[in-house]
Amino acid sequence: TTTELQKRDWAALEQKYYQGTFKRLPITLVRGQGARVWDSEGKEYIDFVAGIAVNILGHCHPAIIQAVQEQVTQLVHVSNLYYNIRQIELAEQLAELSGGMRSFFSNSGAEANEGAIKLARKYGRLHRDGAFEIISMERSFHGRTLATTAATGQAAYQATWAPLPDGFKQVPFNDLDAVKAATSAKTVAILVEAVQGEGGIWPASKEFLQGLRQWCDEQNLVLICDEVQAGAGRTGKYFSWEHYDIKPDIVTMAKGLAGGVPIGGMLTGPRTDVFAYGDHGTTFGGNPIACAAGVATIKTIKEQNLLENATKMGAYWDKKFQDLSAKYPHIIDSPRGIGLMRAVNVKHDLAGTIAERALEHGLLLNALGGSTLRMVPPLILTESDLDEAHAILDRSLEEVSKLPAAQQ
Ligand code: PMP
Repeated sequence: TTTELQKRDWAALEQKYYQGTFKRLPITLVRGQGARVWDSEGKEYIDFVAGIAVNILGHCHPAIIQAVQEQVTQLVHVSNLYYNIRQIELAEQLAELSGGMRSFFSNSGAEANEGAIKLARKYGRLHRDGAFEIISMERSFHGRTLATTAATGQAAYQATWAPLPDGFKQVPFNDLDAVKAATSAKTVAILVEAVQGEGGIWPASKEFLQGLRQWCDEQNLVLICDEVQAGAGRTGKYFSWEHYDIKPDIVTMAKGLAGGVPIGGMLTGPRTDVFAYGDHGTTFGGNPIACAAGVATIKTIKEQNLLENATKMGAYWDKKFQDLSAKYPHIIDSPRGIGLMRAVNVKHDLAGTIAERALEHGLLLNALGGSTLRMVPPLILTESDLDEAHAILDRSLEEVSKLPAAQQ
């Protein structure tokens, strides 16, 4: 109960027992339903963070509850030494969505990208004279393992961990000439987010992604799209690269794939489908529970037309929020994004302060550094959720606009 939860000082207990690598906001979430979450004091919030673009169907969706409950009573885990029905069913769904790609499941986005890197390197050994180098983008984010840290184009993530694995190089995003100039006989793959997530919600230009596709074809390179954040329907298409009329060779996924249950996925088309027995593996990857949740998530997206809803709500969000940019031009720029993957630039380093005010008033927003507010709500969002969120953001911006920091 709420009173029992209130008896314990969760911040102090975390300090004592947990290796805190995240600076927490001062609430403890204990329950979720749809686009809403509640904290240990019983306070309600509209959730525009959604576990960082994870809870595609919102919290505690009945389809996920049912799928997980049924699975948990049948078989929680099965070794990858044996066939696994749920794994095959999820792969079948993804093949349908991706136009025939084959899947491999892991447990996180970083691990999905690790698999993609290995697959690309194997392709290089077999079909490109041993080429191994991967070109990725500045401001990209691909994970926190050592190889994905090396692939991530943000120096802050890389600084402490030298020596990082060799064979990674970053070039400016949306700059095809830079990719071409960086390509050598050692290059095997180009790794790109069609919409950069952690970098601040920046879509690639059409010329860039189509140019990359063409360059990869000409040079016998592998095009890898990291769909960990932008995939699973967030942008209004199941894969964000579908907006660009291209098809990558390898696709990585995680976050929304199973609607909140941990999973990673790596998909490949036939050209790069080069893993052989023994090449790669994981104990928990593709476990029945995660895959059952994945199947339920995809079925629900289809049955409830959630791609369409993401597009519609994204457009409504844009229309609603334009007026805030006009009202507070000294604090925020105009909003941007695609589907329900949206952001707004914030001036005077005030993104964190706005997020704190919004939290106070019952809206969870995510500040990416001081200059960007990210909004990645569940795809089940309604107009009335957005109206409410708009009112809270309006009030928060009004308060922040009175602070000395906003007057400069
Ligand atoms: N790639 C992208 C584009 C991401 O946004 C993230 C997570 N923020 C990752 C990879 C890493 O995923 P995970 O945290 O599940 O390892």
